[in-house]
Amino acid sequence: MTEAPLISVVIPCYNEQGNLRPLVTSISEALEPLKIGYEIVITDDCSKDDSWSVLQKLAADYPTVCAQRLVRNSGQSAALWAGINAARGRYIATLDADLQNDPKDLPKFLEAIKANECDCVCGSRIDKRKQGDNFVRQMSSKIANGVRNWITRETVTDSGCCYRLFKRECVANLKFFKGMHRFFPTLFKIDGYRVTEIPVNHQLRLSGVSNYGVWNRLFASSYDLFAVRWMQKRMFRFQIKEQVNFPEPTEKNL
Ligand code: UDP
Ligand code: MG
Repeated sequence: MTEAPLISVVIPCYNEQGNLRPLVTSISEALEPLKIGYEIVITDDCSKDDSWSVLQKLAADYPTVCAQRLVRNSGQSAALWAGINAARGRYIATLDADLQNDPKDLPKFLEAIKANECDCVCGSRIDKRKQGDNFVRQMSSKIANGVRNWITRETVTDSGCCYRLFKRECVANLKFFKGMHRFFPTLFKIDGYRVTEIPVNHQLRLSGVSNYGVWNRLFASSYDLFAVRWMQKRMFRFQIKEQVNFPEPTEKNL
């Protein structure tokens, strides 16, 4: 594959051996009918199970699958970021490896980004939450989301949902830190990008177990929250109006 694909589907993976083949099959079934160029970039975050050998087999079976493995377990944000860095598509879609996010929604994201003339479309699971999560998880996500919106003055209905599609330029200046995957919509807006939401399906994890408990969901990101608020208030953007004696205005300056 030499030509850059239209869309890169980027997935972080930790101990997902039972989910990877159904995941790749499902993504392929969703995207093949669209007749577009795509790649599936999966980063194995140093899984302890057989995820890496499954990924190697998948890469042999599917030319669209690009797989990489981190040296040590580095967390969801790092695995996601490693995948985004390796992605070549004009659009980047991110989703989880456990099939809680339904690949059948991918065409809807592409339609929405074109129809809404925006830079990023975020999935919102709120309508379908009951299908894929137990009560404790629904409540802890609701509280975490509410606090995040309150501190950051946001209206994101489901910031914990990592099912998103965005233009590759959205991540050009992104500040990356542990837990940043929860703040992509806000971080994109800080850089001046337009973000919208669409409802997505939400399913039970196909196999394996969740990596997060209530403690992590509720409290781990509160520290990050204040850093993001600080960024919202303190980071600046500017546009060059005119230049003289430069060879030509650079894209970065416009
Ligand atoms: N993940 C990862 N590294 C980690 C923990 C999680 O790459 O250290 C991946 C995991 O394989 C999945 C995604 O991050 O694709 C979300 O994790 P999980 O499904 O456990 O989170 P939950 O949906 O329960 O919040
Ligand atoms: Mg999950």
